[in-house]
Amino acid sequence: MRIEFAHPLCFNLIMDSTFKNPHPLLLGGRWKETAQTAEVINPFSGEAVAKVCQAGAADLEEAIAQAGKSRPVLAALASYKRAEILERVSEGIYARREELARAVTSENGKPLVESRAEAERASLTFRIASEEAVRIGGEFIPLDRNRASEGRWGITRRFPAGPVLGITPFNFPLNLVAHKIAPAVAAGNPIILKPASKTPISALLLGGVMMESGLPEGCLSVLPASAKTIGPAVTDARIKVLSFTGSAAVGWGLKKLAFDKKVILELGGNAGVLLDEDCDLKYAAGRAVAGAFSYAGQVCISVQRIYAHRRIYDAFLELFVPKVKALKMGDPMDETVQIGPMIDEDNLERVASWVDEALAAGAKLVAGGKRSGRFYEPTVIVDATPQMKLSCMEVFAPVVTVTPVESFDEGIRAINDSVYGLQAGVFTGSLKRAFQAFEAIEAGGVIINDVPTYRVDHMPYGGVKQSGSGREGIRYAVEEMTEPRLMALNLI
Ligand code: ADP
Repeated sequence: MRIEFAHPLCFNLIMDSTFKNPHPLLLGGRWKETAQTAEVINPFSGEAVAKVCQAGAADLEEAIAQAGKSRPVLAALASYKRAEILERVSEGIYARREELARAVTSENGKPLVESRAEAERASLTFRIASEEAVRIGGEFIPLDRNRASEGRWGITRRFPAGPVLGITPFNFPLNLVAHKIAPAVAAGNPIILKPASKTPISALLLGGVMMESGLPEGCLSVLPASAKTIGPAVTDARIKVLSFTGSAAVGWGLKKLAFDKKVILELGGNAGVLLDEDCDLKYAAGRAVAGAFSYAGQVCISVQRIYAHRRIYDAFLELFVPKVKALKMGDPMDETVQIGPMIDEDNLERVASWVDEALAAGAKLVAGGKRSGRFYEPTVIVDATPQMKLSCMEVFAPVVTVTPVESFDEGIRAINDSVYGLQAGVFTGSLKRAFQAFEAIEAGGVIINDVPTYRVDHMPYGGVKQSGSGREGIRYAVEEMTEPRLMALNLI
């Protein structure tokens, strides 16, 4: 099935670099132009690629009111109809994957090859949601546990929790938006989505696809807005679920404010990888390069700390470092480029100062270590200590530390020595040690024989400790966005 955009602006937003009109926002399923606009800056060229309408307080109020009004409509929609809507969106994204991929690269500087993968993943995310929409079941529970309850039975069913507020970051501006909208619709909830201020384009393009899917009016708003403007929605009683992906500082602060809601937090990490002495080193080195340097390390599950068993430490560096040095930096629209620019000047300065600080305190550089215009070179550091910011804070940049450990147990302790716990990777030839790592590592996911950066969109995904609470991965997000209700039957 081919889906056409209803709004002609959607076609031209990215492709036409002379685009002058501000792109409208999506309010309750209708495009709306507003007086206030913001430019979207391409992090590679520094040029404005689009102008986007910004929501004001009245738009937010209207979006919340529309979500409240459409709540019973979507909740009453048969599951096969919700599934059909989601499947149409999946097909619509797939049909427009190249345009969407170029939008992602234009607004956040991700290498085009990776943006294409993101667009395909977003299509899959909606397909998975389409499958899950028809599988939201419940339980049949015998209640005749004691004499007084004889003849009684319980049935549980999950009901949509109510309007969702989704807030998303810049690093996966399409697929992380998909991870908010798709489960919300599968669960039967209207959603208001606030994209990251730097990257609203992919979210608006996705909104265009959604508008052609048959979603009832009022159920979706995509509101580019400042944090201050969106603030009232975080505390508004009509919003029942807050699903936030972004930094730990912002996320935990919002959770306090949204104390009366269901809150899903997908936050940061400083993911560790453990290389056991018997692991396939060549394979591990290749995967570690991908895990540490995809999207210049601006990924919550990017490889930040590598712990290699002492016996294989030197051999690993010999395999790993040349691969890092060979990574190609440049224009992210160039299909051969692997490292694009960092998102902005503040982050460039931050990582440069963290690296300088580590080197001044005794760490050593084995690759990279310099800023070059809007880029930060892929960087490998050895002799880092756990106290250095490069070890204990979220780097979110193309920088990785490699540290020897004397034993598997010491490596696990090193991985756990963190305020974060999103995912961890363990390369080992031993099934027993794989299970040992699974038991001992404090993280939402333990990835055996791959990097923590591994994610497929239907798996449960989320963190412990400062890395978040709740899980995404459609089925799990649907659980978070629904409430179980019991019917107790007294069969008299
Ligand atoms: P990142 O820098 O990775 O995007 P942030 O946590 O700064 O991480 O931002 C994630 C999302 O949260 C963005 O959409 C941002 O605009 C939004 N945001 C930041 N601060 C607030 C806030 N106080 N209230 C609501 N949203 C916020």
